[in-house]
Amino acid sequence: MRIMQCWDDGDVDDIRLVEILRKHGARATFNINPGGWKSKRREAHRFKGEYQVNRLTLDEMPQVYAGFCIGGHTMTHPLLNAIDPDWALTELVECKRYIETHFGQQDCGMAYPCGAYDDPVKELVRKAGYLYSRTTLNVDLRLNTDAPMALHTHCHFLAPDFWEKFNAVKAIDGDFYFWGHTFELMGDDTRWQALDTMIGRLSDDLATEWIDVKDLFNR
Ligand SMILES: [Zn+2]
Repeated sequence: MRIMQCWDDGDVDDIRLVEILRKHGARATFNINPGGWKSKRREAHRFKGEYQVNRLTLDEMPQVYAGFCIGGHTMTHPLLNAIDPDWALTELVECKRYIETHFGQQDCGMAYPCGAYDDPVKELVRKAGYLYSRTTLNVDLRLNTDAPMALHTHCHFLAPDFWEKFNAVKAIDGDFYFWGHTFELMGDDTRWQALDTMIGRLSDDLATEWIDVKDLFNR
């Protein structure tokens, strides 16, 4: 079975995640917002009202994400279905251009900020040239690769039924896909340890093979 993961927003805690991923030989896609700051980490929001979430700088991203797949998440993380379509298209096109220029990755997908999209937005994503765009909705068994501009995953990485879903997909030798944000682990070393164990278990499973999400849509 092929397995995939992606992580959104380009948070500073991705540094800790990539160490875990490299240790276990796991592949991943990181969906970034290149509208951030070049050399100073930008304050994004507070998690649980307590932990300050900061974005990686544009300067440090290439090194942090070396060897991993990069996806778009728009330049500045607007809700694409709530802004002017011209602005939305600019957000999409500029983000893709940034990934091509600074990461040398031509064919990339993206993830909708906050999972917000509608039919016109899907058209804009297609027009901007992305291979696919990920939502925050779930499928039970088979990925809906026939609808690449609204690609669902199986679950969030903290979903209580994570292994249940994994085992169901494994039973049909399907493609398994999950997503998350590293800020959701802030202040919780037990959860970080659990993630380390989870990635190790996925990598060590003789039935699994990590692929990048975009590999689902080879041109
Ligand atoms: Zn996001």
